[in-house]
Amino acid sequence: MDTVMDINITKVENSKLNDLNLENIPFGKYFSDHMLEADYENGEWRNVEIKPYQPLIIQPSLAALHYGQSIFEGIKAYKDADGVAYVFRPYDNFVRFNISAERLCMPTIPEEIFMDGLKQLVEIDKNWIPFRENHSLYIRPLMFATDTLLGVRPSDTYKFMIMLSPSGPYYTTPMKIYVEEKYSRSVKGGVGFSKNAGNYANSMIAAKEAKEKGYDQVLWTDAVEHKWLQEVGMMNVMFVIDGVGVTPELSEGTILNGVTRNSIITMMREMGIEVQERRLSIDEVVEAYKKGTLQEVFGCGTAATIAPIAELGYGDFKMPFDISTFKTATELRKQFDDIRYSRIPDTHSWMVKI
Ligand SMILES: *Cc1c(COP(=O)(O)O)cnc(C)c1O
Repeated sequence: MDTVMDINITKVENSKLNDLNLENIPFGKYFSDHMLEADYENGEWRNVEIKPYQPLIIQPSLAALHYGQSIFEGIKAYKDADGVAYVFRPYDNFVRFNISAERLCMPTIPEEIFMDGLKQLVEIDKNWIPFRENHSLYIRPLMFATDTLLGVRPSDTYKFMIMLSPSGPYYTTPMKIYVEEKYSRSVKGGVGFSKNAGNYANSMIAAKEAKEKGYDQVLWTDAVEHKWLQEVGMMNVMFVIDGVGVTPELSEGTILNGVTRNSIITMMREMGIEVQERRLSIDEVVEAYKKGTLQEVFGCGTAATIAPIAELGYGDFKMPFDISTFKTATELRKQFDDIRYSRIPDTHSWMVKI
């Protein structure tokens, strides 16, 4: 590991790992021994430190709580059979983090703090990376406004943090997804492309109502016509129609530019599958389903990786799928796992060694 930045490090006396079994661990429930913290004050980042994971002391007037300047990322670290730790494409998350920051009038974070900080933190808590299929160390960078003054304006001060959560699978069963036509996640000119906290607060009611109908999540449609497909919960979405991969385009700025989305598009093209990034309507999907040319539909994101969709519901119309026939999703999942657990050569240099 080559790092350049000088980070103040305070280590725990006793690791919590002694009391925790990393087998069969749920997603996002446990946190490792250490966290990284940095403060933005007077126009610069300072006090970069790694210290024991602990509560924060905050004022009730904390700006992030009132006005929502809060962004995050999700990245995963893995271990190979020799116990060497790798992080999957963290630089892409660093770039996206700063895109989110700029949209919300927050300061960007320097590459050394994000990348070196992340590497040093993972190195220190390397033993927290589970070595088990479908398990990983989930890395959660976070930035939020810390001014303690009421009034809507960009905060002058911020906190950047990274925490680590050893995790098992996000979804344990194939998903049933409801096509959302009542609520909207994002609009052109909005914040749909940024990973900011408010997007998730906004989305919960749709997921809640979908659950009441027997679904796990929603597939968002555009806010104007409720016709053009966007993405699913915390995942981008990929359809295979007549042998061609089709996924909603990024150009409207209404969906997250997923690192997993980008990775699977690359892998599909290498597998010889044509992939189209374009506008895709629910009508086209329904028509393809009725004709029998809609072969596969799956979600893709860091948390859930590649998640086959077992049923799509559109109003009263149900489109069940036999996911055991999903050739592309299955092959992608296998290749993806082989790359992440270092079982095949990493020809794209996606794995960053710690
Ligand atoms: C994080 C996220 C994704 C997936 O992005 P990855 O970089 O693949 O993890 C997709 N959609 C939304 C809304 C997200 O928050």
